[in-house]
Amino acid sequence: MQKTEILSITNMTLTELEALCVSMGEPAYRAEQMLSWIYEKRATSFDQMSNLSKDFRRRCAEKYHVFQTRVDSITETADGTEKFLIHLFDENVIESVLLREGKRITVCISTQVGCAMGCRFCASGLLGLQRNLTTGEIVEQVLHVRNHLPTDERLTNIVFMGIGEPLMNYDNVVKAIRILNAAWGLGIGIRNITISTVGIIDGIRRLAQEGLQVNLAISLHASDDVTRTKIVPSNTKTGIRNVIAAAQEYFKVTHRDISFEYVLIDGVNTSKRDAETLALLLKGIQCNINILPVNPVEEFNWKTPSEETIDMFCNTLERHGLIVTRRKKKGDDIHAACGQLRLQRHKNNLHQENNASREPSPDRA
Ligand code: SAH
Repeated sequence: MQKTEILSITNMTLTELEALCVSMGEPAYRAEQMLSWIYEKRATSFDQMSNLSKDFRRRCAEKYHVFQTRVDSITETADGTEKFLIHLFDENVIESVLLREGKRITVCISTQVGCAMGCRFCASGLLGLQRNLTTGEIVEQVLHVRNHLPTDERLTNIVFMGIGEPLMNYDNVVKAIRILNAAWGLGIGIRNITISTVGIIDGIRRLAQEGLQVNLAISLHASDDVTRTKIVPSNTKTGIRNVIAAAQEYFKVTHRDISFEYVLIDGVNTSKRDAETLALLLKGIQCNINILPVNPVEEFNWKTPSEETIDMFCNTLERHGLIVTRRKKKGDDIHAACGQLRLQRHKNNLHQENNASREPSPDRA
């Protein structure tokens, strides 16, 4: 059992790896060769890097790993969604999801083990926050999914919408984005990468100044502070208007459109009045709004709204001139909503432990 952090190449930028190669007595260009093995040729071990000397490969393998995580299981649904459980060095597990929509192939990745935000409909927060993911652990989720695809299928999009709050793990997330976007890295277009946030104001402001034109999605879920605070507790500190102001600032600096996410929870944020208040709130802001019905989580007593309610809500927004995308629930049958699979796994483990402790001990039997 590996309990200490593994030093993996996926944590490193080209410049860092060049410095490492030079410090090991190799020319700096070895770094580009190694990265090409990992990001282009899907190598997962130093052994496969046949244009490096055997001696150098051996010295690398003594101190470093190429990957620090491994795929535990892959579960597939009828709609082509695949959920990856990824095993970390400290025995924690996280989730990454592969979504297919025509030519668009998206991977949805996690940024933390658990989450401290505690949104009242999201399974990720139920077990609290354990720790931030390292840069390598973030990058490897994308690599595992890409390496799983047949070579004629191209991974086109990355969304930071899995477990965790990306802007609470700011440095590792931004570094991972640079690696995933770089020509020497995975080369995914920056405009095809989206960070979803609950609305961490400082983080949004800082991100605007990074010189990265990454897309921003804000999990809004309500149109007034009373309702938002009820389902997104961190709103107590921020307030809905400050979140929207930060989003507008982000748009001003980066010229990237903003998306707002709105999870419909029956009877909580689904009235015609909610839709009208939302339309007023977002009036004049260049944005699109993604509406999706809540994926019920056993621990919370929320219900998914009816088709009629969803229609009414979307139509009201559209009548007020908003651009609405109605998202379908995907991967429901494999518990694909944020954090659900990890939670399920945790429960199964508890169940097994309980059963084991209930079994009579050999002494007494
Ligand atoms: N912390 C970030 C990113 C992770 S959540 C954020 O809040 O945006 C990613 C998206 O999944 C969010 O919009 C979140 O509200 C949504 N989500 C989480 N649990 C859900 C559920 N049970 N049903 C539907 N959407 C859910």
